Amino acid sequence: MNRLARSYPWQVLSRCAALAHVRSIGIVGAGQAGIVLSAELLRAGYQVSLYSDRTPEDYLADRGRPTACLFGDQVGRERALGLNFWDDEAPRVRGIHVDLCTDDRMIAFSAAAPFRDHGLAVDQRLKFSRGITEVADRGATVAIGDVSLDGLESLAEQHDLVVVTAGNRSFGKDLFKPDTDRSVYREPQRRLFMLNICGYDETASPGHEYAKFSFLPGVVEIFWVPFYDKDVGVAKSVVLEAIPGGPADRFGEVTTAEEGFDVLRELVHDYFPWEDDFLAGAKPTSPVTWIKGGLTPTVREPVGVLPSGRHVLGLGDAVILNDPIAGQGANNATRMAGFFAERIVERGNEPFDPRWLTAQFDAFWAQGKLVNDFSNALLEPLQGFQQDVLIASSRRPEIAARVFEGFNDPAGLAPWFYELAAARAFLAEYGIGRVELLRYKLAVARKVITHKLLKRRADRRAAP
Ligand SMILES: Cc1cc2nc3c(=O)[nH]c(=O)nc-3n(C[C@H](O)[C@H](O)[C@H](O)COP(=O)(O)OP(=O)(O)OC[C@H]3O[C@@H](n4cnc5c(N)ncnc54)[C@H](O)[C@@H]3O)c2cc1C
Repeated sequence: MNRLARSYPWQVLSRCAALAHVRSIGIVGAGQAGIVLSAELLRAGYQVSLYSDRTPEDYLADRGRPTACLFGDQVGRERALGLNFWDDEAPRVRGIHVDLCTDDRMIAFSAAAPFRDHGLAVDQRLKFSRGITEVADRGATVAIGDVSLDGLESLAEQHDLVVVTAGNRSFGKDLFKPDTDRSVYREPQRRLFMLNICGYDETASPGHEYAKFSFLPGVVEIFWVPFYDKDVGVAKSVVLEAIPGGPADRFGEVTTAEEGFDVLRELVHDYFPWEDDFLAGAKPTSPVTWIKGGLTPTVREPVGVLPSGRHVLGLGDAVILNDPIAGQGANNATRMAGFFAERIVERGNEPFDPRWLTAQFDAFWAQGKLVNDFSNALLEPLQGFQQDVLIASSRRPEIAARVFEGFNDPAGLAPWFYELAAARAFLAEYGIGRVELLRYKLAVARKVITHKLLKRRADRRAAP
C-alpha cells in the first residue's frame, strides 16, 4: 500500500488529484463493491481514493465474513480485472445439488446439474486484504479510517463523486432512505447462522461435489458451499436459514463456534440424518468463522443527501440488501460496481448530479429487480407451478441446469419461474405436458407415502 497515502490527510490527497486534472472518485468501503469499482475505474484511468475502516492486516485478523459465493459471470468479471488470486487453490463451485426433504426425515426428490461456468467462494478476509494492496499498487490512494458523516461531507467536497460501498451496517439507514415501493419486507424473513467447517467426509452422502442445498420447506434451508477459508484452505461454508420462531430457529443462544456447531449437528440429525456421517469428523475452521443474525431485505434510494446539501451515491448492500438465501448480495454488488463504472466513464466530464445518478440506478434496477425477485421468491413458500418446475428438474438435468443458471443470472428465470402459464410453456419446450408432470408427481407421492407407512410401522414396532 502507498504509505504516504496512509499518513496524509484526505484533503491533501484530493488536492493532488485536482492538480492532475483527472476526474477523482472517492470510494468509501473496501468490500466487494468497493474493490471491484476501484479496479474498474483505475483501469479506465480515473484517480481513485479508497477509504477503508480496516487495513489489509485488520481484515486478516477479522472475524469470519459471509460465504459470498460468486457465480460464473461475476467470477469472470473479477478475472477480467485481474482480481482472481485464488483460481488455483479455491475449490470450484461446479454446480448445484438440491434435496427437497419432508419432515419425516426423507428426501422427496433431488435435482442436480453442473454450472456452465464455475463459481467461487473465497474468504472475504483474504479478498479484501489483498484487494486493498492490489488497488494501491495500481495507483489508488488508500486512506484508513472509519468515515463518519462529517468525513463524507469533506470527501464530497473534494471529489467529483463519492461512492459509498460501506455495506448495510454503516450509513445505510440514515443516509439512503428506504424505497418503500421497491422493498417488499419490513422485517427479517429468516434467522441466519453461518459456520465454516473442515474435516467433513465429502463422500458420506451424494451431492457434496457441488454446492449442496438441503431444503425442508416451512422449516429450514441449509446450504453447504465449497469454500476457500483463510485459515485452513479448502473447506465448506454452511449457511442455515431458519423460519423465525420455527423448530430450526435454535441458534439464538449460541455464543461460540463450538456451540453453534453442536446445535447445527443436532438439527441436521433431527431433519437430515443422512448428513450425520458428513459431519461426524468435522469441526469449525476457527473460533471466529461464524455469523448469526437476520437481514431485512431493503432497497434504498441510491443518492444520499448530506446535511450540507452535497450528495453521494450508494452501491452494494448499502442500497440493495437481499437475504442471502439466493446468494445474490456479493454478485449484485459486483454487477452494480461494473455497471456504474461503465456509466461513470460514459459520463465523461459532465457532472454527477443527483438526477443523473438516480436515472442510472433506475436503469440498473430494470435488471437488478430480477435479482430481488429471485431472492424474495425463495423466501416464500414455492407455488405449485414452481414445485412442478423443480420436480421436472429432478428428472431432467437440462431443466435443472436452466433453473440453477438463475443463480448466476436471475434475469434468465423470468417469466417462467414466476408465472403459471409461462412455467407450463417452459416445461412444454422440454416435451413435458400435464400427463408427464402427473407421472413425475405420482412417483414422488408414492415414495413419500411408502416412507411414511414404513416409518409408522417401525415406530409401532419400537413402541413398548
Ligand atoms: C451469511 C451470509 C452469507 C452470504 N452468502 C452470499 C453468497 O453466497 N453470495 C453472495 O453473492 N452474497 C452472499 N452474501 C451477501 C454478501 O456477503 C454481501 O452482499 C456483499 O459482501 C456486499 O458487498 P458490499 O461491497 O456492499 O459490502 P461489504 O462487502 O460488506 O463491504 C463493505 C465494507 O465497508 C467497510 N466499511 C463499513 N463502514 C465503513 C466506514 N464508515 N468507513 C470506511 N469503511 C467502512 C467495511 O469494513 C466492509 O468491509 C451473504 C451474506 C451473509 C450474511
